[in-house]
Amino acid sequence: MVTFEGVTKRYGDAANPFVALDGVDMTVGRGAITGIIGRSGAGKSTLIRLVNGLEKASDGRVVVDGTEVGQLNETGLRGLRREVGMIFQHFNLLSSRTAFDNIALPLEIAGFDPAAIKAKVVPLLDLVGLGDKSASYPSELSGGQKQRVGIARALATSPKLLLSDEATSALDPETTQSILALLKQINAELGLTVLLITHEMEVVKTIASHVAVIDKGRIVEQGPTFDIFTAP
Ligand code: ADP
Ligand code: ADP
Repeated sequence: MVTFEGVTKRYGDAANPFVALDGVDMTVGRGAITGIIGRSGAGKSTLIRLVNGLEKASDGRVVVDGTEVGQLNETGLRGLRREVGMIFQHFNLLSSRTAFDNIALPLEIAGFDPAAIKAKVVPLLDLVGLGDKSASYPSELSGGQKQRVGIARALATSPKLLLSDEATSALDPETTQSILALLKQINAELGLTVLLITHEMEVVKTIASHVAVIDKGRIVEQGPTFDIFTAP
């Protein structure tokens, strides 16, 4: 679903660049849940931002569902972002909008009419277990409920790929488990490919079938989670 081929990302001026990613080769299998684990500053956010075109590779190619992200123009990037949902550590909900209206936002942007939006949002609220919170504002929701809204919003445009940027890092262990269970359910029921980044080993062990370990911009190990985390 996603391949990184010799991807290097340099920040800063050409004379004195900072190398955030250094020759990354990686594959994210279709329908799999892949975890990328590494310390703060290892390059995880950079990696994920290359997938939805928020950053551009300095060298190499990032290919998402057959399309090279670096070759897309603005129209192409808009199309890509409908195919790629994203959830965040701090949820990134709009406080002035209800749960329903937060989930509706990407559909409004895509030009859906109100009836089509309702037909899409109501089942999503049910899917994430918030059927009775449609009219609640983010300030009236718990952290876990806010992330459920974030997940529903990410799914609104029926993406093929879900990116998760430390989505459980602001949640307590019990809530973390419930959100991971929801992501697993969505992966199984919708066949959605999931790529998540985390600094927490437990998250990867709980949910990811495949894992890549990143350190100082290099992938130092990758493979099935069972192989990576089982001592020989
Ligand atoms: P593409 O987006 O280029 O079609 P995919 O990653 O979807 O690439 O598939 C490439 C190949 O890898 C296919 O032959 C597919 O069957 C295989 N594949 C996809 N997902 C997995 C996985 N989780 N584990 C092992 N092989 C996989
Ligand atoms: P992680 O998500 O693993 O914490 P990041 O991808 O955010 O890592 O960052 C990797 C490295 O790149 C860090 O040293 C960070 O300071 C640097 N970096 C990230 N974004 C920029 C930027 N826009 N300009 C310069 N350096 C950056």
